[in-house]
Amino acid sequence: MDFIKLQGVVLKSINIGESDKIITMLTDKFGKIDVVVYGARKSNSKFMASTQQFCYCEFVISKGKSLYNLKQCNIIESFQSILLNLDKLAYGSYFLELIDKLTEKDSVNLSLMGLLLKTLYIITHDEVDLELLKLVFDFKAISLFGNMPYLNGCIKCRKKIEFGYFSVSDGGIYCPKCKENKFAYPINKETLNLLLKIKNIKLENLRDINIDKKTMNYLQEIMSNYIKYYINRDLKSLNLLSQIKNYKEMI
Ligand SMILES: [Zn+2]
Repeated sequence: MDFIKLQGVVLKSINIGESDKIITMLTDKFGKIDVVVYGARKSNSKFMASTQQFCYCEFVISKGKSLYNLKQCNIIESFQSILLNLDKLAYGSYFLELIDKLTEKDSVNLSLMGLLLKTLYIITHDEVDLELLKLVFDFKAISLFGNMPYLNGCIKCRKKIEFGYFSVSDGGIYCPKCKENKFAYPINKETLNLLLKIKNIKLENLRDINIDKKTMNYLQEIMSNYIKYYINRDLKSLNLLSQIKNYKEMI
């Protein structure tokens, strides 16, 4: 039997049988894969900790008839402190779910894995504006799948513009003349500059961006609809995020 060593982040797991589970992970060698972990839910399982959501490990797996089997693993970074903070858990769960929904099985995307790991390190180790982190993550993740919004001018006539209308379905900004009567979000000069900053910023420099609450909500709405349009599915974790947001606005 061939053993394969790889690194991966656990995106989700489902329980099967009495004590087993199937974990879905994003890996460096095979992209997204499902791996069966026998006995993972037994209290004495050596795999109990390392097969939790968020765990980044070095795994040794073998190919079974239809799925991989987990043979060994060493935790590189567990990111388990995310589980202790409701905000971080809600955003972290969203990042994992978005990656899961965006990716097809067995398609390697090292840039995406890098983006996920960097994001999880930042949530764990830095005090960061989680809404801003989500906005930048959304932009970068969707761009890695070839859907980067076109912001360098009008998407139709390509004229340079300082303000315009963001079209979710066409993936870019129209000038007032080309917009015609299509639905698109009005984008003023300041918001367009923010979008350009978000496009270019490195995750470790998020403090360089300041967004007021109203603009943040507006950009979140645009980006969420943009992502929804491309993945064509709902993200369950968005419900938890909006519940937390509503609760905070009430108190
Ligand atoms: Zn135009």
